[in-house]
Amino acid sequence: MLLNLKQILAPAKQRGFAVGAFNVTESTMFRAVVEQAEELKAPVIIQVSPNEFEFCDREQYLYFVERLQHSPNPFVLHYDHGKTYEGCVRAVQAGFTSVMFDGSHLSYEENVRAVRRVTEMAHAASVSVEGEIGSIGETDNFEAGTVKDMIYSTPEDARQFWEDTGVDALAVSIGTVHGLMPRGYVPVLQLQRLREIAAAVDVPLVLHGGSCTPAQEVAEACRSGISKVNVSSEFKNAYYQSIKDFVLADPIKVSPTLVAKDAVQQVRRVVCEKLNLFGAVGMAGDYRAPARERPTGEALPAVD
Ligand SMILES: [Zn+2]
Repeated sequence: MLLNLKQILAPAKQRGFAVGAFNVTESTMFRAVVEQAEELKAPVIIQVSPNEFEFCDREQYLYFVERLQHSPNPFVLHYDHGKTYEGCVRAVQAGFTSVMFDGSHLSYEENVRAVRRVTEMAHAASVSVEGEIGSIGETDNFEAGTVKDMIYSTPEDARQFWEDTGVDALAVSIGTVHGLMPRGYVPVLQLQRLREIAAAVDVPLVLHGGSCTPAQEVAEACRSGISKVNVSSEFKNAYYQSIKDFVLADPIKVSPTLVAKDAVQQVRRVVCEKLNLFGAVGMAGDYRAPARERPTGEALPAVD
């Protein structure tokens, strides 16, 4: 079943677990995540970043939507880190049930204005919206072990932003970093800050950069108000490492069915580990398919 973010995160927030959100680029990775979620009866969010979205053709998303809609397991198809209004419209037109508008690089006022515009468009199509307050860090220099652009979220800003925009989920910056960690850098989550933000807003909170943050801290964050955790680099790294090892060991056997076999298992291993950590395994039974089919994106404003 294909839900929006609001629908998939409500039971998570209520019962104190988090839904894993996995960034997939192509259909082999997509199948590995979907089949593992189904096996574990865990709700899962499939997400696609703007670069990944542009990399694939529109027909791929017809397949994604069809596959997720007909699964007994709850899923969301989410557009991650959208940076433009037009990008968000295209995702809705492609059948995505949720979009993120990341205005963390903008001033507060510009961020609010841009998110409100996206929210108005998306909500008209029953599509949910994730916003971001503060700024989640990026790896600056891998060898030097430094990060950049991290601005912690505060409970006051989170509450104001939520009231000003009407977002359905809110990404907060509490110490995680996007991507694989720079050498020697160990992210420390500010769990007290998280608890204060969770107490100040009544909207599900999102943790980005869930790949290499210590497991116990992520598990604690899921019990302290985080309802969605984004995972990307960790399973992609396992996927491509496996392919690299296979091809280097036997450059003659380059058939995709042989090359991808172990890589798929590596993705499934990471997904399984994360879903257990988030407390999401077996939670699919909490969900019911929405009563009405959501409207298609046909009535949306036209963009090139
Ligand atoms: Zn992110």
